[in-house]
Amino acid sequence: AKKIIGLTGGIGSGKSTVAEFIEEMGYPVYNSDFWAKELVNIDENLKHRIISLLGENSYDEDGEYNRPYVASIVFENEELLLELNKIIHPAVKEHFENWVNAQNSEFVFKETALLFELKLNESCYQSILVTAEDNIRIKRVMDRDQKTYREIEAIMQKQMPEKDKIKKADFVIENNSDLETLKSFTKQTIKELEKMDL
Ligand code: ATP
Repeated sequence: AKKIIGLTGGIGSGKSTVAEFIEEMGYPVYNSDFWAKELVNIDENLKHRIISLLGENSYDEDGEYNRPYVASIVFENEELLLELNKIIHPAVKEHFENWVNAQNSEFVFKETALLFELKLNESCYQSILVTAEDNIRIKRVMDRDQKTYREIEAIMQKQMPEKDKIKKADFVIENNSDLETLKSFTKQTIKELEKMDL
């Protein structure tokens, strides 16, 4: 059976950058957060179920998912948010399983922001956490996105604390330095994973 390695990190930690390095090393990486956003537009069954839950307005005239509208409803209603996630998560799970089966690599990586929050690590062979100091993460996100210090801080405070994630992770990649250092830590981690396999 294939070995699924969970790859996670909070906002601005550098997990997408690590995912790119891992792909450069020749391993397939599934971006769960990307596919969760994509599938609501391409999976017809999923579309129907979302419309049943949240109404016709969840899609615009072109049939495109109306994310701001959906966000505005579920933001006010935690029950509906849970229901929506109960629809979207199994669809992503199924899509992921099909993807895994189509890969011909013994290790496959699953990049997701909520690996530990959703206990997805329990169905992974190993887990990798990318972490960095709060102020460094905030600075990086401010450089990347049009968000304020306070907004990023608020997002971080809603995520699982780093110290809890570090306890849960099998491998921790620290990203407090430059990209070359990050790449070399990533390579070391992959080597250790490959060694476990011998
Ligand atoms: P998010 O969950 O917010 O999407 P992420 O964990 O995927 O974040 P990245 O997108 O990989 O994080 O990194 C955040 C930003 O910081 C990116 O613009 C990235 O290029 C930059 N970055 C990451 N690591 C470093 C580093 N070591 N040195 C300089 N810039 C970095």
